[in-house]
Amino acid sequence: MGGKFDVVVVGGGVCGSFSALTAAGLGGEVVVCEEHGEIGVPRHCAGHVSISGLRRVGLSLPKEIVENEFRGAVFYSPSGRQFVIECSSPVTCVLNRELLDKHVADVAERAGVRFLLKSRAESFLVDSNFVKGVVVGRKGTRETLASSLVIDAEGCSSALLKKIGLQTLDRSMVVHAIQAEVDMVKGVDMDRVEVYLGRRYAPGFFAWIIPRSDGSAKVGLATKFGDPREYLNRLMRNHPVASKKLASSRVTAFSLHPITLGGAIPRTYWNGLLVVGDAASQVKPTTGGGIVFGLLCSRIAGEVAYEALESNDFSAGFLSRYQSRWRELIGFDLSAMRQLRKMLNRLPDDRIDRIIGLCSKFGVGRILEEIGDLDFQGKSLVRVFQHPTALIIALYSFFSSLTSPDNM
Ligand SMILES: Cc1cc2nc3c(=O)[nH]c(=O)nc-3n(C[C@H](O)[C@H](O)[C@H](O)COP(=O)(O)OP(=O)(O)OC[C@H]3O[C@@H](n4cnc5c(N)ncnc54)[C@H](O)[C@@H]3O)c2cc1C
Repeated sequence: MGGKFDVVVVGGGVCGSFSALTAAGLGGEVVVCEEHGEIGVPRHCAGHVSISGLRRVGLSLPKEIVENEFRGAVFYSPSGRQFVIECSSPVTCVLNRELLDKHVADVAERAGVRFLLKSRAESFLVDSNFVKGVVVGRKGTRETLASSLVIDAEGCSSALLKKIGLQTLDRSMVVHAIQAEVDMVKGVDMDRVEVYLGRRYAPGFFAWIIPRSDGSAKVGLATKFGDPREYLNRLMRNHPVASKKLASSRVTAFSLHPITLGGAIPRTYWNGLLVVGDAASQVKPTTGGGIVFGLLCSRIAGEVAYEALESNDFSAGFLSRYQSRWRELIGFDLSAMRQLRKMLNRLPDDRIDRIIGLCSKFGVGRILEEIGDLDFQGKSLVRVFQHPTALIIALYSFFSSLTSPDNM
């Protein structure tokens, strides 16, 4: 294809397509190169998001993309203790991630974005210290896509960023995840997602069961070390609660993929370049949720790209406004969640058992329901800590984690 565009976006994931849609909607000529032959495939994500977050992003989704809605969550300790957070109406939903990516790409295409599939960006085109496009491997040949600006939405691999020498995501905070489709789940409330805590089943993260109304579910977990397939096997066979619910389940499909929990990379712009989504690690360190934050940042990237086109200024100085804007929106929450993630990682299983016991005794689920925002957890934490009961439990967890002999 070759040619010159206003903006080249690397990666046709949800963040790449959404930033492309935003820039094209404002009037830019945008092309997306995606290494796979089909948008949304392979799938790697559970697709669990807050309904308020989707509203904030401004995406109205066709019904078939939403697989189920939830009024709350139930948290299980390693020994099977539980506590529940429940709201009066649905607060989260689970999306079919393949259909979500396809939908956003379709809308972008209708806004004039061109998609090049089976087109792998191999390197940035750099001239006089400015990114001025990408070199793409396509149909066995190499082509140059020249552009005024590149938006890097390549996901966790950060291969292109490494080549240009920008600091990439914090590998010490990356966990290895498995996402499985299972059938025949029993004893799961359709209104709740299930979260399984504890090092024994998911060291450095947690496991989940996200039910659908047809009796199937998404089951997954992430681990800091070891093979996530072995941990999934252990959860399905040995967990005192999950093993009963999954006793008759068959894994019908699964995928392996990293989740980046370290908070955003220090610099998400350069001359002629913006970085969005997982590539920028705009992901909640507590839950690994990257869809809502990634989309919010992608919209800002698309807007700033267009402003740069209008001003004909693609310098790092001009593009730094992208980082200022997304930081203002989610910077505090990312930092607070990173600290919380580190604290959670230090908790041994017996302490998680005691904390979950305390939470259910003192009704912390109810407190969180009153004052929590599921996406902006940093700001919610500040409000939670103003509640005496929550504060006592938080202090207990914090100090017990510090004194734990087997800190991770
Ligand atoms: C198991 C698991 C479960 C998750 N569950 C949730 C959840 O429930 N809720 C939530 O909010 N988040 C979840 N996440 C995180 C979420 O999936 C990511 O934050 C989100 O997908 C980020 O979108 P993205 O567009 O930045 O990256 P990606 O979705 O990874 O897209 C990157 C795209 O770039 C393409 N690409 C890469 N390199 C190149 C190249 N050189 N040239 C061309 N194309 C390239 C890839 O093929 C891919 O299509 C989960 C992640 C995992 C691993």
